[in-house]
Amino acid sequence: MDLCDSVSSGITFQCQQCGKCCSSITEGYIFMYMVDIAKISESLQISKVEFAKKYLSITKYEYTIWDENLEDTKNTKIIDTLVLNFEKSSDCLFLFNEDGKKLCKIYQTRPVQCNLFPFWSMIMTSKENFRRTIKYCEGLQKNLDDNFKFSLEEIKKKICIERELERDYFNRMKEVDFNIFRDYPFLLADTPFLK
Ligand code: SF4
Repeated sequence: MDLCDSVSSGITFQCQQCGKCCSSITEGYIFMYMVDIAKISESLQISKVEFAKKYLSITKYEYTIWDENLEDTKNTKIIDTLVLNFEKSSDCLFLFNEDGKKLCKIYQTRPVQCNLFPFWSMIMTSKENFRRTIKYCEGLQKNLDDNFKFSLEEIKKKICIERELERDYFNRMKEVDFNIFRDYPFLLADTPFLK
């Protein structure tokens, strides 16, 4: 796995709860996989149907196809995927303010993608994306000691979690002819479609 030079000797990170990764989001999505929907709907004590109705939309996304070793096959495919709805302000619906901090209402059960931030493949493998992320993420900007250091191996492990999730989703979708309503039977036919 080739990571960019900026992270090749490891990085320090600790979330400073500035909320910038979850607010004013004008590009990108928070992907919602079955594991996320199951744990979050349970923590909110609502059914998956209710959760989907309130919080989910479908969009098309170009998935990288990872091989059995979670390396890039250089092939991609655009398929339907579920994403979290945002408020009109482009803030995450679960974000709230407390004592000057921006906190997450579902922190304990937050989506895997949020949990892994900023250790995403697209950030850690691209110098440009890493530069853009460090510009707003206070947890990457802060001068932290070695207790908050993530080695190259630790970063790779986190990236593998993300890639494995994407690969498993892609393979499951393949089994249902890429029909998202077959993979998520609780989705309503009128689930909004984001462009
Ligand atoms: S941008 Fe960084 S420091 Fe701010 S909330 Fe997100 S992860 Fe935490």
